[in-house]
Amino acid sequence: MTGELDILRQECINCNRCPLHEGRTNMVFGVGNPQARIMFVGEGPGEQEDLQGEPFVGKSGQLLDKYLSLIDLDRKDNIYIANIVKCRPPMNRDPKPEEQDICIGYLRQQVKLIRPRILVCLGRIAAQKLISPDFRVTAQHGEFIEKGGMLFMGTFHPSALLRQESNKPLALEDFQKLRDKIKEENLL
Ligand code: URA
Repeated sequence: MTGELDILRQECINCNRCPLHEGRTNMVFGVGNPQARIMFVGEGPGEQEDLQGEPFVGKSGQLLDKYLSLIDLDRKDNIYIANIVKCRPPMNRDPKPEEQDICIGYLRQQVKLIRPRILVCLGRIAAQKLISPDFRVTAQHGEFIEKGGMLFMGTFHPSALLRQESNKPLALEDFQKLRDKIKEENLL
């Protein structure tokens, strides 16, 4: 399985299907355990991720790691993290719908190979792409939705939490719900 992921990673390294490839330092494929039962998906690499080639390694990544550690999850051990688009959008803008549409096939193949039971969408862009186009994080965060044999949950994007700290307790509740679901489903 790792072999197939490596082949896919190489395909992404060579990808020039959308204009985002022109500005990238590194394609940011994903990080974690390819056998993980829990997967996290963000929107796209920022500056630090582009420089280091790994998702969520900047300030928002540090916050994400903190929430993960509170529920015994660790990017090096028992989860997998990826993004909707694999190259950094300029000036940290949202990835455009057409960029998402071009790149999403790679994520879908990653999900097929990893076969997580739970997929957590970090923020609106990921939740609207993977759960429902009208997903509203403020109204629907923390809800588990079963689709195609997987459980999807949307929660706040860590960058949004850095901008609006008052939502941190709600995000913490979502992670606690995630911990309970992981226990219920015997996933660790
Ligand atoms: N924000 C994201 O959505 N993904 C990253 O990898 C980093 C920041």
